[in-house]
Amino acid sequence: MVEQLDGLVFPQLHLDRGIDNKGIFIAGNYGTRGVPIARWSMIFEGLGLQAALIRDENTRRTGLNQLQARVQADLETVTTLLATAEGSLTIWGASLYTDSIQFVARAGQVETHTELAGVRLGRSDVVPYLRAAKQFLEALARYNTPGKLQNLTLTEVQISEGLAAYKKSQRIDELVKLIHQFQPLTAYLEAAASDLSDDDLWMPGAAQARQGLLDELRTFAQNAAPFPTPAFRQRLERLKRDYVERYTDLHHAYVLSQSTDAERKRMLDSKQFKQARQLVRIDLFSGSSELGGWSQVLTAIPVCPNYHPGLIGNTPTCPTCRFRAATAGTQPAQATLPTGFVESVNQALRWLRGVTIHAAEIVTALKSPTIPCTVDDLERRFTAYVQALLAQGNDRSSTRLMIE
Ligand SMILES: [Zn+2]
Repeated sequence: MVEQLDGLVFPQLHLDRGIDNKGIFIAGNYGTRGVPIARWSMIFEGLGLQAALIRDENTRRTGLNQLQARVQADLETVTTLLATAEGSLTIWGASLYTDSIQFVARAGQVETHTELAGVRLGRSDVVPYLRAAKQFLEALARYNTPGKLQNLTLTEVQISEGLAAYKKSQRIDELVKLIHQFQPLTAYLEAAASDLSDDDLWMPGAAQARQGLLDELRTFAQNAAPFPTPAFRQRLERLKRDYVERYTDLHHAYVLSQSTDAERKRMLDSKQFKQARQLVRIDLFSGSSELGGWSQVLTAIPVCPNYHPGLIGNTPTCPTCRFRAATAGTQPAQATLPTGFVESVNQALRWLRGVTIHAAEIVTALKSPTIPCTVDDLERRFTAYVQALLAQGNDRSSTRLMIE
């Protein structure tokens, strides 16, 4: 009050020391004016307090105590809210503010701008209201004794503006609580999206739900309708369940379980595989290097013996093998085998032997000892040539001839 007194000029009451001026002011005004009941009632009702308490002189002190308790608590809330709102209101990797371009970073790379479509919400739709609410509450905090109630300087217009800002601050408080409420679920879904590849079938539904939630929260900040919390919670929970199912499918496809790992061991230890490797060593067929590549690919498939969907209930990535489909490459089951590989392996597994003969050799055999010759001679010479081939240890049924 001393500041206000400094601006007033009552020459006849002026004393040398400010404290004495204050004393004179209180002595001169106390009891000369009544408490402005109508305006205080407006304030009490606007803050959700009982206006009757201030109207009745006997309950005025109680009313004042309630007012001050409310003002102090709300002032603390609004101050915190203001600091939050001046920074950013962020959920699911996006800012609720559409008036500043935000970038979404994924794996350290800036990927996209924040979506510019949808409901708009500017900082100017939030911050000025919080500032006004804070000022209003600070003004009310000064009326902390019954004697000061009569000095209310706020006009009716100022009170209704202050109350409107106060109401808006309560809305923003609810908005921030909603953000906190959805935060664990949206953080999970945000991380889930980064585990899957961009073209995964789960992605479009997640993007839609995310845009829907952002739009709904932006709308909530600007109107008075209740937030459809249960509907959104259900939608996000369903999205999470779909993710767990999808991740589990991919985990099965890319990572070996206990039983499929045993199957791999059986395959690599099998007699057939060992035989194929033996044959590869003698460089019999062109698929030799491919067999090595195939066994390397087979050996490289990771194993996660105890995976179950419950493991990704809290975090979207399997804690045991850290499998991420986004970086897993080609699905092993869909990988194409190298050209000629199947033929080569089949040949090896059937114990076939390839024998290469040169065309010139055949011609020489058919020409010797002399040419021209009879048809019978030619037939005999050819049969003799084939017999000689078999005599070199080539089995009639398992030998396959190639002519160069
Ligand atoms: Zn795993």
